Amino acid sequence: GRAPRFHRKFTQLQDGAGAPSSSIRVMQWNILAQALGEGLDSFVQCPPEALSWSRRKYLILEEILTYRPHILCLQEVDHYYDTLQPVLAGLGYSSNFCPKPWSPCLDVEGNNGPDGCALFYDESRFEFLDSVNLQLSAMRIPTNQVAVVTMLRCRSSGRCVCVAVTHLKARSGWEWLRSAQGSDLLRHLQALVQKHAHDSAGAQTLDIPLFICGDFNAIPTEEVYRRYAASPLGLDSAYKRLSEDGSTEPEYTTWKIRPTGECCATLDYIWYSRDTLRVDAVLDMPTEEQIGPNRLPSFSYPSDHLSLVCDFSFKEKE
Ligand code: NDP
Ligand code: CA
Repeated sequence: GRAPRFHRKFTQLQDGAGAPSSSIRVMQWNILAQALGEGLDSFVQCPPEALSWSRRKYLILEEILTYRPHILCLQEVDHYYDTLQPVLAGLGYSSNFCPKPWSPCLDVEGNNGPDGCALFYDESRFEFLDSVNLQLSAMRIPTNQVAVVTMLRCRSSGRCVCVAVTHLKARSGWEWLRSAQGSDLLRHLQALVQKHAHDSAGAQTLDIPLFICGDFNAIPTEEVYRRYAASPLGLDSAYKRLSEDGSTEPEYTTWKIRPTGECCATLDYIWYSRDTLRVDAVLDMPTEEQIGPNRLPSFSYPSDHLSLVCDFSFKEKE
């Protein structure tokens, strides 16, 4: 059967005065690798038919097209070349993909190749400047986690943005590795924006707005989260703005049932430069009732992670 899609609403923020024409919509989503969902994940309450690629691919594309983000950051992409890249290219998106060096998908029989991070952007809104694929290091040793970093120029305002997408190491016991990987990404970003600021004739480093989207596999009390919140790059996590006090992360961005039990946690984030960008709107999270007793994925929703969608605008220069 086919259950109805979640109906989610945007919360418009009070201070969100940005004209809609100038807003930048950003989506962060771990779409669940096809090979992992069917092979290694063991979502015990999810009917196997809900996990077939023939069903999931339409739900994934429907979710993306419902919100039509200008910048789309995805993790666990193992159908880039045969599905997402060609379909989204036809809809006006350019993209970059970085596969994981030793993707766990490759251990699954009948896999469709390695999973990785993919970064898509609306070509009508942004001009391509530069992109790098990074293998994240920990204590100078390369790890199995990657990032894509793309530098873009907004066609209407002429302003540059630097966008990063990453997927840090999963599971408990690896908090130190996530922290090292997160720090390595911050180091790369600092160097990249410095280089670009230099290239564009003396602009201040902190003037290049950053978006860092990812499945950090870390709850908000973890070291990697605290490092991002305290980074000299001046980052803030956009989804905090959904809370009453404006400073609390949502209760969950993933909710699933494995043989080991239920996992309901906030692991996914959209970080942005708080000095140069303003959050105008945040897409709310589906309720527990909407998600249902069997949690995710389901016939209603193709991934165990929920999409995060926010509208941003540039802050005026002071
Ligand atoms: P991670 O531990 O980061 O996890 C990989 C995927 O598994 C993630 O997409 C994660 O999803 C998902 N996952 C998390 N928790 C569970 C769970 N409890 N049960 C099932 N799946 C889960 O993987 P690595 O990148 O470190 O790679 C792990 C595998 O890769 C190894 O098992 C090995 O086969 C291979 N490998 C091989 C190497 C080599 O030298 N040949 C080196 C390194 C890895 P989510 O993020 O949504 O939680
Ligand atoms: Ca996963």
